[in-house]
Amino acid sequence: MVVVLIGPGGVGKGTLAKCLVELDHHLWLSRSWTTREQRPSERGDEYYFVDRATFERAIEEGTFLEWAEFHGNFYGTPLPSPERDADVILEIEVQGAEQVLQHHHDAVVFLILPPSMERLEERLRVRGDDDDHVADRLQSAPYELEKGHELASYVVVNDDIERASGEIISILEELRRQRRDLPTKD
Ligand code: 5GP
Repeated sequence: MVVVLIGPGGVGKGTLAKCLVELDHHLWLSRSWTTREQRPSERGDEYYFVDRATFERAIEEGTFLEWAEFHGNFYGTPLPSPERDADVILEIEVQGAEQVLQHHHDAVVFLILPPSMERLEERLRVRGDDDDHVADRLQSAPYELEKGHELASYVVVNDDIERASGEIISILEELRRQRRDLPTKD
């Protein structure tokens, strides 16, 4: 199963994804590539931070399952290679989610919503983004939300990380049960 988390920047997708892989050992978190600068608040293992030339070469070499340009930087998911028979979880923006759905029609897309737009802005500022970045991301939030509603199978409000991850895990467990029970071809 391919699981995709989408939602506006600052909604907490990254924290949610990390929490999900800790709680659900069937999940394998993909690590994306990006050309954006590492934030002072980041440890360095959030992404493979690369320069533009390296990213462009990787595009040509067919490294990515999907990639997109977002606010002037490239982001891409390398073709997944989970160590075991795991469900892959991706935390990406909406253009990438559209590409994933083209390859994997049965990917399960969760749109993550903030409890309010005020909380979203607060979270963006806490992350250490400068004012221009915060403004850019808030400006693209309505598009991410509109497109997100089109693509998502489930909508989850990230009001509390434990509650939201519990809701997602219950849905995934139910989907696994349903997919196991499906008659297979032959
Ligand atoms: P940030 O710069 O805040 O870490 O990420 C900006 C946006 O890019 C977020 O919405 C994040 O989910 C998305 N993103 C992160 N990795 C990928 C990726 O591999 N592909 C795509 N399409 N978007 C990504």
